[in-house]
Amino acid sequence: MAKIAYFIGNWKMNHGISEARSYFERFLPEISKVDLSRKVVGIAPPFTSLAFARKLTEGSPVKLCAQNACFAEKGAYTGEVSPLMLKELGVEYVILGHSERRHIFGETNELIKKRVKGVYQAGLTPILCVGETLEERRLGNTFLVVSEQLKQGLSELEKVEEGRLIIAYEPVWAIGTGVNATPEQAEEVHSFLRDLLASMYGKELAQAIPILYGGSVTPENIADLIKEPNVDGVLVGGASLDPEKFLKIVSVAI
Ligand code: PEP
Repeated sequence: MAKIAYFIGNWKMNHGISEARSYFERFLPEISKVDLSRKVVGIAPPFTSLAFARKLTEGSPVKLCAQNACFAEKGAYTGEVSPLMLKELGVEYVILGHSERRHIFGETNELIKKRVKGVYQAGLTPILCVGETLEERRLGNTFLVVSEQLKQGLSELEKVEEGRLIIAYEPVWAIGTGVNATPEQAEEVHSFLRDLLASMYGKELAQAIPILYGGSVTPENIADLIKEPNVDGVLVGGASLDPEKFLKIVSVAI
């Protein structure tokens, strides 16, 4: 079966509304020229730019994504954003368990699994991020770490429907460092994750769950990464901030 490839840009805490406007003014006319018949393109702006980004991208092929979401629909959760509020804005995908949430803000697997459940139940598609630190890789613990993160992150989901879950393998040592995992390193972990998903949900569903790679993806390395059989797309941080660079990444032949 022909592969569908996902290209998700994570703006992190960049591009407020005025920068978002100039970004989309450059990005949208060009993205409409790219053959997206087998590609999904999404952008995760910061929360404050989401409503504005919705207005600008309405009617375009760009899917709106969020960078996090609360596990609850509403209530006394100061500083959090409800998945239902995101849905109301037109958000479709939510990044959860990003390494910056885990390592800077102390989010644990315990918290992330609740967020995954809340987002899933709201009808949005979680993009669950997993990935080892350099130290964990050096100690030979990569598979142990990512399998714990995956199993725990999904443990509150009673069932998973096709098209309702995405996994992103993002080795912490590759995020924002300019040192990407080699295609072989990425494929090794992706195929491990695929097998793990198959043991949880069966082979057929596991095959249909996109596994994205993230960590210093650029226009220069995308072609080699996307060729790997278990790399179903990419989560792009730094390079997605520049519309021309992100367009080059999205335009890769698949
Ligand atoms: C990310 O933040 O998800 C990411 C992969 O960042 P970068 O592409 O900058 O390494």
